Amino acid sequence: MRPDAAALVAPAVGRDRVIAFDKRGGAAGVAGIVRTARAVREAGFDAAIAVQRSLRTALVLALAGVPRRIGFAGAPGAPFYHRRVVASGRHARDRLLSLVEGLDVPRPDPPPDPRLVVDPAASRAVATLLSEAGLAPSDRLLVVAPGSAWATKRWPAQRFGSLARALAPEFDAVAIVGAGGDAALAAAVVRGLSAGGGKTPLAIDLCGRTDTAGLVAAIERSGLVVANDSAAGHVAGALGRPVVSLFGPTVPAFGFAPIGPRVRVVERDLECRPCARHGGDACPIRTHACMESIEVAQVAAAAREALADPGPGIPAAGGVAARRTSGDRP
Ligand code: SF4
Repeated sequence: MRPDAAALVAPAVGRDRVIAFDKRGGAAGVAGIVRTARAVREAGFDAAIAVQRSLRTALVLALAGVPRRIGFAGAPGAPFYHRRVVASGRHARDRLLSLVEGLDVPRPDPPPDPRLVVDPAASRAVATLLSEAGLAPSDRLLVVAPGSAWATKRWPAQRFGSLARALAPEFDAVAIVGAGGDAALAAAVVRGLSAGGGKTPLAIDLCGRTDTAGLVAAIERSGLVVANDSAAGHVAGALGRPVVSLFGPTVPAFGFAPIGPRVRVVERDLECRPCARHGGDACPIRTHACMESIEVAQVAAAAREALADPGPGIPAAGGVAARRTSGDRP
């Protein structure tokens, strides 16, 4: 696994081992493929399921001599697999589960939801960070994630702050999570938080101050997560936290919406959506209406719905849908 993904999985594997494969770092190039293949060979696997479609992963598994290799039909690495499975299902979770058929194991029905285990050390470190920032153990924490790798997938950051203020009756503090490069977004969130009357929740900027395990721990501590279509929403869903996920240029029908019992998706009904498979750096029609037209009040309503007892989706007014997501109904 990629090192950042390995950090997500490591606490759950117990006595098993995660082999990190940093294709852009220490495992780059042919030498990296050979080195990783050696580590896989030494681990002595009986079978391998390649969830990556990549040729590089297939090469690693073939060079390692894993005797039973399973992957997706049509993938670039498919010639190196012993069994090629045709992916089926609408959500990515279901398509990945197709691969167990390559082991002659029936697909679990209903499919299990993703699940994450929190690293206790990360949990302690995040508790210390939050405490030093002024959060009391009984304080209710909202987590917002204003970042995304793609500019078009970002809801205006200031609105996350306005949202936190709107949700002040429900929360005492808001933690802003993201990478170190999200500092400007975090500052915009704080500006949004400062504007207007009423109670102002405590703002805690965690951008760049947690690693992946720390992000999981911070979300585990939260009572609600509001995020763009990005990693934080998936983590929150897998932890069973209430989460509101904001979709713009992409759509849940692509199969990548967070899964969880208390997930709500907010999205605008526009003819130009979707305009990209993964998002983009600039809106092709220069309006960015998909995100700009999502109002704070609508996200706050979805948040309150997620906080309440989960139930069937409720279409919101104004062409913005707030609905519960599950893997079989993207
Ligand atoms: S074209 Fe539409 S969906 Fe794409 S970024 Fe612009 S407003 Fe959003």
